[in-house]
Amino acid sequence: MTDNSLTLSLARLPRALGSTLHQDLVWVTPDDLGTPSMSAVPGVPLDVSVDLTSVEDGVLVQLSTSVDLVGECVRCLDEVREHHDVSSAEVYFEPGAPALTPTDDEDEEVEDLFVIGERDTINIETQLRDAIIPLVDPRPLCSEDCAGLCDVCGEKWADLPSDHEHFVVDPRLASLASLLGDDAEPGRS
Ligand SMILES: [Zn+2]
Ligand SMILES: [Zn+2]
Repeated sequence: MTDNSLTLSLARLPRALGSTLHQDLVWVTPDDLGTPSMSAVPGVPLDVSVDLTSVEDGVLVQLSTSVDLVGECVRCLDEVREHHDVSSAEVYFEPGAPALTPTDDEDEEVEDLFVIGERDTINIETQLRDAIIPLVDPRPLCSEDCAGLCDVCGEKWADLPSDHEHFVVDPRLASLASLLGDDAEPGRS
């Protein structure tokens, strides 16, 4: 199948409690999977293994896959690449299941539950995304002891000699130097 949907039919899953069905899917990573600090490489096919189990009031959906996340080192801006195994288990409730009936103060939690959709299908994209986002490192580092960049020239400390430094001109001398520079200009032209 060429469509990149994560909708699964439950038609082949017997509804006797404990019945199981295994499905393998391929999902091509979208370009918005992650956060500004790290995200999945877009356009990569992920093999997603799905185990469905009939439970009371719904279906237990267990996903597993693995994903490459890429970001920039927060100190030196080098590429940081991490490989993560992803796994998640959620129950998708039958419409009308007691868990979906809001009680007085649980309205918000009820909205976060997964529900079996039309024609006995479920869409596991939200579950998969929810499992990947927490793996993102908010402050990726190329190495724990990355020294970052020189404040002045922006070069990586790792590439600079150990005695690298910049002669810092006193601001008063700097303006004097620029005055002298201006004086020199007309003489040359
Ligand atoms: Zn770094
Ligand atoms: Zn420098």
